[in-house]
Amino acid sequence: MTRAMLLFAQIVVLVAAAVALAWRPGRVAIEWGAWRVDASVGFLAFVVAVIIVVAVVISRFWGAIRRAPGHFLESRRMSRRQRGYKALTQGMVAVAAGDVQEARRAARKADALLDEPPLTMLLSAQAAQLGGEETAARRYFEAMLDHPDTAFLGVRGLLMQAIKGGDKAEALLLAERAYKLRPETEWVVDQLFELQVESALWSEANETIATAIRRKTLPAANARRRRAAVLVEHSRLAEAEGDLDTALSRAREAHDLDPGLVPATLALARLFRARDRAARAVRLIEEAWARGPTPELASAYGALIEDADPLARVKRFQRLFSFRPDHRESHIALAEASLAARLWGEARKHLAGAAGTAPTARVCRLMAELEELESGDMAASRQWLARATTAVPDEAWVCSDCGAVAGSWSALCGNCNAFGSLAWQLPPRAMRLPAPASAPKRGNPPERKAALPPKQGGAKPPAPA
Ligand SMILES: [Zn+2]
Repeated sequence: MTRAMLLFAQIVVLVAAAVALAWRPGRVAIEWGAWRVDASVGFLAFVVAVIIVVAVVISRFWGAIRRAPGHFLESRRMSRRQRGYKALTQGMVAVAAGDVQEARRAARKADALLDEPPLTMLLSAQAAQLGGEETAARRYFEAMLDHPDTAFLGVRGLLMQAIKGGDKAEALLLAERAYKLRPETEWVVDQLFELQVESALWSEANETIATAIRRKTLPAANARRRRAAVLVEHSRLAEAEGDLDTALSRAREAHDLDPGLVPATLALARLFRARDRAARAVRLIEEAWARGPTPELASAYGALIEDADPLARVKRFQRLFSFRPDHRESHIALAEASLAARLWGEARKHLAGAAGTAPTARVCRLMAELEELESGDMAASRQWLARATTAVPDEAWVCSDCGAVAGSWSALCGNCNAFGSLAWQLPPRAMRLPAPASAPKRGNPPERKAALPPKQGGAKPPAPA
């Protein structure tokens, strides 16, 4: 719009000048040596205008000729770049599609056309990997380490190679290097943490996940739960090494992070007891019992009772019972204490309370024990034992990844090595816990150790019926 108006204004000025010259004609005479030019003002103006136009055209043309070689080279360079980027894109698509030949061809082309090694090296490495040439790929990844722009991609490539090759020590070093380069990248944190955990480097793993929580790199709830598991293992390690101060502080942190994590409660209670703070340990277990009773808590509670008198122990378990009178485990714990104190009626009442309509295998075994101890009724006892083999299984530490049942909690599944996968739940129906070889001695609460079942496939356990 502005340009059109400008042009219009120019035309108006020119026409006005021409009209002015036509209305008020005059003459111009130029004398130069023997020459004399005699012309009208209009004609002279026309000649001057023509000379200006010709001069401008010649000057433009000359400039274009002078700049031509530069333009030619520039357009050639642009075309090479464009073809290089096109080859790079085609190569990436070929890698994604798994086309080895095309990926290799595109990588070579991109490399020849683009003078930017950082861009083409990754494609070359991926093409080599696709063709199964791990050594060649490794060379490219190592070369990428020299460029600050591609160092991270190089470390990533080498890390993936180390993991694939099962070289845990090398993978750990590379993960640490990647973490130094990109401490806020979620997969780097995850990978480093996983490798540290697999190597039982609990202190280092704790450091990694604590930093991730602080920087909000990982989802908070999940990271807190994982950190609590690491802290329990760290506490156990420190306890085994005789460093009770560290063990206590780690167990306390774990318990604070995840109060529902029974192994943290058990570790903390054990360490309080070792520090002659049994009352604090008792309170801790009673609180945990109120949240969710488990046989391990009952066992730890029994271990804290110093009075060996069976009747006194029953009284203590009655107190524990009062925290969750609605729960099956409360009935079982009190039934076991009553059996030890030979309070048959009390034991039978609580076993009936625990059995409900479908007694679990453990309740059946306790019933067998009661029948045998109370009246020596071996037939009834055998009936209960037979019933135990087909009864509903009891809850246990079950790996949610592979379905294996573990005798005790650990941060890593003993079967599939998954981290944080053990949960207190019903085992798959096919994985019934084997009955103890002999009835445990009464007096102290029994230590029931379930044998680790044979290895299973990686399939998820079916939901318990
Ligand atoms: Zn597992």
